[in-house]
Amino acid sequence: MRYDTVIVGNGPAGLSAAIYAQRAGLSSLVIAESPVDGGQIATTYEVDNYPGLKGISGMELGMKFREHANQLDTEFLEARLLEIEDHGDYKSLILDQGEAVETKTVILALGADHRKLGVPGEKELIGSGVSYCATCDGAFYRKKEAAVVGGGDVALEDALFLARFASKVYLIHRRDTFRGAKVLVDQVLATENIEVIYDTVVEKVSGNIKVESLELLNKKTGEKSSLPVQGVFMAVGTEPNVDVKGLPQQDEKGYIIAGEDCKTAIEGIYAAGDLRTKQLRQVITAAADGANAVTSVQRYLNHM
Ligand SMILES: Cc1cc2nc3c(=O)[nH]c(=O)nc-3n(C[C@H](O)[C@H](O)[C@H](O)COP(=O)(O)OP(=O)(O)OC[C@H]3O[C@@H](n4cnc5c(N)ncnc54)[C@H](O)[C@@H]3O)c2cc1C
Repeated sequence: MRYDTVIVGNGPAGLSAAIYAQRAGLSSLVIAESPVDGGQIATTYEVDNYPGLKGISGMELGMKFREHANQLDTEFLEARLLEIEDHGDYKSLILDQGEAVETKTVILALGADHRKLGVPGEKELIGSGVSYCATCDGAFYRKKEAAVVGGGDVALEDALFLARFASKVYLIHRRDTFRGAKVLVDQVLATENIEVIYDTVVEKVSGNIKVESLELLNKKTGEKSSLPVQGVFMAVGTEPNVDVKGLPQQDEKGYIIAGEDCKTAIEGIYAAGDLRTKQLRQVITAAADGANAVTSVQRYLNHM
C-alpha cells in the first residue's frame, strides 16, 4: 500500500492535517510515538486562548481533535519515525518497529519542545506551576508571585507580559547583564513589579502538588536561598523534535525551513506546526498549518 500522504505527529498540526486529509478523500495514515493526543498542549491544565473553547484543559482539547479525526475514519499507527528515504515520487518512512511505510507525500508535524532547565522538581511540576509559555499560562498568575528564568528576548518579554497580571515577577538570570534587546531590558528595569535577580541559577523547583518555591544559588557569592513563588516560567529556549534522519533543510536552530504553504526543500515533504520556521508557536497556528499542508499535498498530487 502506498498512501497519498502520511502525517507524522498527533499534536494539533498532525490531527488537523488528518481531518483535512480525510475530508479531501486522500488515503492517509497518522504515525505518532505518543498514545496521548494533543502533543505539548496535553501537558497544560487549561487553554484559555483557543477560539470557542475557553477554559478547556489541554488534555481534553487533544482528545477532541482525536475524536474528530476518528469520526472521519482516520488510520493511526503508534510508532516513532526514525528516517525518511526520498525516492522522488514516493518516500519510505523507517519506523522504530523495523517496518517501512510507503507514501507519495509526508506531512511532518513533529512539534518542538521547550528546552528544559534539567533541575529536580521541574519535570514533576510541569502544568502545576512550571510552565514554558507565558502567553499561554501568564493570566493564571493574576495577583500572584511568579518567576521567569532566562536572559534572552523571550525571558524579558515573558517577564513584561507576566507583570501585567502578577503582583510580583522575579526575573532570574545566571549572568550580570542581559543578552536580550536593549529596548526590552530598559522596559524590564523600569517596570515596578519586576525584580531582577542576577548571577543566580535555579537548583531545584520545590512543591508537593504545585510549585511553592525555588531553591537558588548565587554563582558569584555562593549564597543559597529559597524564593517563595506560585509559578515559574522557563524561558531558556526551544528545540524542535528533529531526531530523524533524512529531514529537509533546517535553519540554524534546527527548525525545518517552510512557509505558510508548509513546503520544504524536498518536494513532497511538508512541515507543519511548531516544527517549522514561524513567528508564533501556538495551537491555532499549528492547526492552521495542518490545513495548509494538506492543501499543498493536494496540489502536488494533482500535478504528479
Ligand atoms: C505547557 C504548555 C502550555 C501551552 N499552552 C498553550 C495555550 O494555552 N495555547 C496555545 O495556543 N498553545 C499553547 N502551547 C503551545 C502549543 O502546545 C503548541 O504550539 C502546539 O502543541 C504545537 O503543535 P504541533 O502539532 O506542531 O506539535 P506538538 O504539539 O509538539 O506535537 C508533536 C507530536 O509529534 C510527536 N512526535 C515527535 N517526534 C516524533 C517522531 N519521530 N515519530 C513519531 N511522533 C513524533 C510528539 O510525540 C507529539 O505528540 C503550550 C505549550 C506548552 C508546552
